Amino acid sequence: MKSRCAIAIHGGAGKIRRATTRLERPALERALQAGYRILQDGGSSLDAVAAAVATLEDAGVFNAGRGAAPNGDGEIELDAGIMDGATLRAGGVAAVRRIRNPVAAAREVMEHGRHVLLAGAGAERFARQRGLKIISTSYFHRNKVSKYGTVGAVALDRAGNLAAATSTGGIAGKLPGRVGDSPIVGAGVYADNAACAVSGTGDGELFLRSVLAFNVAARMRYRGESLARAGAAALAQVARLGGRGGLIAVDCGGRIAMPFNSEGMYRACIDRRGRCMIVANDEHVSA
Ligand code: ASP
Repeated sequence: MKSRCAIAIHGGAGKIRRATTRLERPALERALQAGYRILQDGGSSLDAVAAAVATLEDAGVFNAGRGAAPNGDGEIELDAGIMDGATLRAGGVAAVRRIRNPVAAAREVMEHGRHVLLAGAGAERFARQRGLKIISTSYFHRNKVSKYGTVGAVALDRAGNLAAATSTGGIAGKLPGRVGDSPIVGAGVYADNAACAVSGTGDGELFLRSVLAFNVAARMRYRGESLARAGAAALAQVARLGGRGGLIAVDCGGRIAMPFNSEGMYRACIDRRGRCMIVANDEHVSA
C-alpha cells in the first residue's frame, strides 16, 4: 500500500515574539503549502523539504537566510543541512556568508556526492560553480532581535521516502566561525526511511553533544519506541544537559511529533489525513 504524504516545518524554538507573529504565520503557511503541493503532486520528500526551507529562508522573518541574526562581529554566517532517508545521502554548508539559499547549497553538496559538509569560502565557491545565487551581504536584514528562529522541514512522500532539512543563522552574537548543530548529520538534521526524519532547533551545542536527531531515530530502530516517545526522550536528554529547544519529526508511517521544552516553537504541519495545523503564537490557530 502506498503511504500518504505528510509534512512538518518549524521556524525555531524560543520565546515567541507576539508582536511579530503577524509576519511569521503567513510565512509558515506559504512554506507549508510550497512543500505540501510538491508531495501531493507525487514529488519527492527531498524536493518538498528543500522548497519549504527555501521559502522560510526567503521570508526574512526567521533567523535563517535573509532574516539571519549577525555573529559577534556583526556578520552573517549561515549553516544548513539536508538528508535523504532513502539513501542516507546528506549534504551541508557551514559558516557561509553570501549564499542566498543555504539549503539549496546543502542539496548541491549532497547531489554532487563527493563530500558531506563544506564550510566558508570553499562552500561559496562550490555553490557558485553549481549555479546558485550568490548575493551581496547587504541582502541580509541582520535581525538583532531573535535569539532563535532556525527553520526546518521534514516530509514523507507517496513513495514512502523520508527527508529532512534545517537552515539557520545560528545563535545571535556567536563567535565568528562557530558552527552549530543544523548542518551536522545526526545532530540538527537526520533522515532514515527505516525510522524517521528529524529537524531540530535550540541550543546547538547541546544538540551536538547529545546527537539529538540521530538519537530519535536510534531509539525507534533499536528500542522499538514510537516517534512521540523517542522524540520526547531525546529532547529530555538535551534538557538534562541544560539545553532548551525542540524538534519536528515524521516517521515512515506518516506520524508527526513536534515536541519542545522552550517557551514556544513556531511550527506547522499537514498530517497523513490532510489535516493542517499552524502554531505561530502557541495557541492552535488553524485547523
Ligand atoms: N540550533 C541552532 C544553532 O545552534 C539555533 C536554533 O535552533 O535556534 O545554530
